[in-house]
Amino acid sequence: MKKYFLLVIIILASILIWNNSTFDFKFDVVKSSPSFLLDKKIENKIDDLISQLSLEEKIGQTCQITLESVLQKNLAGKMIVPYKIDTTKLNEAINKYKIGSILNVANGPEGPTFNREKWKSVINTVQDYAANSSSGIPVIYGVDAIHGATYTSNSTLFPQEIGLAASWDLSLAKSMGEVTAYETRASGIPWNFSPVLDLGRTPLWSRFFETLGEDVYLTKKMGAAIVEGYQGGSKIDSHHVAACLKHYVGYGSPKSGRDRTPALIPERTMEELHLPPFEEAVKKGALTVMINSGEVNGIPGHRNKYLITDILKNKWGFAGFTVSDWEDFIMLHKVAHTDSSVKMGIASAINAGVDMSMVPNNPEYKTYCKLLKELVEEGAVSKKRIDDAVRRILRVKHHLNLFEKPTVNYSDYTEFNSKSHISKAYRAATESVTLLKNTENILPLKKSAKIMVVGPTANSLSCLNGAWTHTWQGVEEKYHNNYPTIKEAIEKEVGRISYFKGSIMSMKNGDEIDLPSKDLNSAVDACKNHDVAIVCLGELPSTERPGDIYSLDMAKEQRNIIKKLSKTGIPIVLVLVEGRPKIINDIEPLTSAVLQAYLPGDQGGRAVSDILFGKVNPSGKLPYTYPRHNGVVMHYDHKQSELINGNTWQNDFFNPQWEFAHGLSYTTFEYGELSLSKKTLSRDNSDSIIVSVSITNTGKVKGKESVQLYINDHYATISPSLKKLIAFDKVSLSPGEKKILTFNIKNNDLKFYGTENTWKSEEGSFSAIIKDMKSTFILKND
Ligand code: BGC
Repeated sequence: MKKYFLLVIIILASILIWNNSTFDFKFDVVKSSPSFLLDKKIENKIDDLISQLSLEEKIGQTCQITLESVLQKNLAGKMIVPYKIDTTKLNEAINKYKIGSILNVANGPEGPTFNREKWKSVINTVQDYAANSSSGIPVIYGVDAIHGATYTSNSTLFPQEIGLAASWDLSLAKSMGEVTAYETRASGIPWNFSPVLDLGRTPLWSRFFETLGEDVYLTKKMGAAIVEGYQGGSKIDSHHVAACLKHYVGYGSPKSGRDRTPALIPERTMEELHLPPFEEAVKKGALTVMINSGEVNGIPGHRNKYLITDILKNKWGFAGFTVSDWEDFIMLHKVAHTDSSVKMGIASAINAGVDMSMVPNNPEYKTYCKLLKELVEEGAVSKKRIDDAVRRILRVKHHLNLFEKPTVNYSDYTEFNSKSHISKAYRAATESVTLLKNTENILPLKKSAKIMVVGPTANSLSCLNGAWTHTWQGVEEKYHNNYPTIKEAIEKEVGRISYFKGSIMSMKNGDEIDLPSKDLNSAVDACKNHDVAIVCLGELPSTERPGDIYSLDMAKEQRNIIKKLSKTGIPIVLVLVEGRPKIINDIEPLTSAVLQAYLPGDQGGRAVSDILFGKVNPSGKLPYTYPRHNGVVMHYDHKQSELINGNTWQNDFFNPQWEFAHGLSYTTFEYGELSLSKKTLSRDNSDSIIVSVSITNTGKVKGKESVQLYINDHYATISPSLKKLIAFDKVSLSPGEKKILTFNIKNNDLKFYGTENTWKSEEGSFSAIIKDMKSTFILKND
């Protein structure tokens, strides 16, 4: 009996060990992923499916093509209008090459933005072909809906990420995600290449506006909130989409400031600044990640096995799939020169852990499928690696419920561009606009004032929206929705105004070469009949390489507007409509007020006007340090050693135009004393110091204030920065109202990446900092 019992135990144990090892093998890289991504039933289905797929079918799943590559073209290779799917090409892509993904829109004469009817017909046709293919696997379709459903006409457009970050409001970030997801899915598209989690620490970089600013903590929190909005939690229903975190990692810090050029990022900076926003979003269950098109420390993003496989997949347990950026497998050969052939580039990228290739053109995608098959047959890419990539892709398709429902019921989306969606976008715009200067409270303006509006960004929806709006570069006005520009919104508010363009914006040979506008002299003449000039400056929309510029200087012709008008003595309110901070140190002193609008989206005209006339009290705060000089880009988290100024021999070198988190209000807030619940913290993470501060609205109007808590490590073996943001909260206060805010400080908040290349905190004294108040506490060594 005992013998049998022992035998049963041994058999049971071996089954368990076998199961676990199979489990380990199948999920070898997904141990710590959020549990909802590892549904055993789904995993079993995926296993069954993978076991039935041919090598060609598996390779096809890893291949992504553009919509354009399956559209009808004439003999000269030009797209036929109206765009129609070329069913021979689609049949070839899906049935011969078995492709698993399609992206984007078409850049032809019909324009890239489709109405929902058109999307319906595109997506339905694609999914019909996929359903009738040998594997029956649905296609995953993706677009860049980075501040609303940017490629669907009449969608709701929010501020770009840089503005969203300036709201310091996580609920707004989440609601941008929700509305965007809803309206993208309403177009039948289940996958969004957003959010950008690259840090905005290089203002020259053309994609600065796509970031959440310079700070790692703000980016981490805002980014995670956007992901929550996109995916809607553990169940990704038909109102939500898969997020795509990009561009993993270090893409936003090119040494030259130019797009897709090399970055040098020491391991410590990588760990402390660049990786945390991605890790946080992975913890939230983000389903996909796009790889950095540039290179870090000489290693192209798409070859960086350490970052993709060791960190993202193995250490963090990312269970979704990674997708390359545009043509980047090919670029390993053609541009990075790390691989002596396209074929070797494919092997390097797949072996580094990239699961899907945005090949994406025709006939390149066919070559990709052919070469990857050869690589597997030759053993240069293992079957196990291919299975892993396919498993990840199928997992995401399952979580999006594409197998059951590859398309959506288009009539279900009655909230598309609804009043409620528009009011969310409007709120996000109003809460992001940042009042940088307000001499003698010139703002808010009286409606009775005689107003002139001047400047090239005053009457342009394109400038309010920025790139990735209806088109890639976002410049063409003709695709825009019918919302008021700043000039139109002001006109609507106050009745008659005078309007002058002041200068004409243009981009030439990679820089902003604005042209003088004939009406500037008339504007100068008109000053005598007006009480105030609202001058709207900024830049034309652009992104990626077309947005590369040589200098951060605000275009000369635009600065000239302020210089000329100011000579008449008219008070000037400067409104900045810009994706990156342009240098304005020569004109700022000539202005009475400055409002930073960023790229506030379709509701931006109304938001700016409502703030100018006091209908809304501004509450945005800069998510970056606004530089004063072109050659001095410092961040708020600088070190003591960066302060010494050889000209004055004082510690006064940090002298930006405006500091990170600067932003004024039409009311005044008084902070009470900063108090700590105790003065000593232990290393045990269950221990915390409670920081409290009271804040009172001492002015006459209701207002909102973002309160930030920073810490400063007084002495550390790695020279510490003078402050680091560790918490924030935005409160709303009526006149006379007082609230007490509390924050926790824990050992984890005090950690840095130490000399041994591990995260650690060191005993000693620290300051908790809120506003200009500091309080010291000690971290004990226990
Ligand atoms: C950009 C990505 C984008 C992709 C697809 C690339 O050129 O770098 O951010 O998601 O195109 O449009």
